[in-house]
Amino acid sequence: MGSFASAYVWRLRKRETARGSKVAAKYTMSRGRSMCPHCQHRLFAKDLVPLLSWLSLAGKCRYCQSSIGAQYPLTELVVSLLFVTSYLFWPFGFTPIGWGLFVLWLVLVEIGVILAVYDIRWTELPFRIVWPFSAVTVVFVGLRVYAQADFWSIGYALLAAAILFGLFWAIHVGSKGEWIGGGDVVLAPALGLLAGTPLVVLLLLFIASFGGVIVALPGLLTRRQSLAGKIPFGPFLLIAAWMVVLWGERLIAWYQNALLLS
Ligand SMILES: [Zn+2]
Repeated sequence: MGSFASAYVWRLRKRETARGSKVAAKYTMSRGRSMCPHCQHRLFAKDLVPLLSWLSLAGKCRYCQSSIGAQYPLTELVVSLLFVTSYLFWPFGFTPIGWGLFVLWLVLVEIGVILAVYDIRWTELPFRIVWPFSAVTVVFVGLRVYAQADFWSIGYALLAAAILFGLFWAIHVGSKGEWIGGGDVVLAPALGLLAGTPLVVLLLLFIASFGGVIVALPGLLTRRQSLAGKIPFGPFLLIAAWMVVLWGERLIAWYQNALLLS
């Protein structure tokens, strides 16, 4: 699934930049075998073993010796870690509905990784991927509400989505798109639904902003990056959403017990 995400991101970019031309059709996922992004030599099974092929070839194409960026093995590693951690810390159990939720969740993780990698490389969240992410989220959250048999939570989830969307939209319009990009605004309702309650949305925002500051700080301090410089916010939002779905309620309970009541 990690290899698929990498290949998909690359093909998507080729199609987005060649939209409408004949070249674009060459990079649809259903057509064409795996190929080297530089020499376009066809890749075989021995070139496609996740992580191991990249390591054994020392990050170079077997056919043209061009270096293959660490993005590919890193994506494979991250996807496998996200899948395994999701299984280990799965909060909804493994009843039939729990399994259904889990499968939908893995689909969301996969699409989320595609979004994050695209955003990291080209600071853009393509609508073409945000929409399927949002659609799967609606099914996931609907099933989650059904599993928890608490139908008030539909209202909380919608409120959470409205809060995040409203906030991002206001910042987007207020800063003329400088501080928060259009892709983040379109992604916001899905992230709010995943968070599920207004309180968990605040937690999601806190984690994402904190992560963004931690990553941006070294660049700011060494002045390699100015305050006006851009870092993609999408990956931080997606990681925060991943965390709050798995640990949100527990984190808030811990916070209330440890810090507020002691
Ligand atoms: Zn090559």
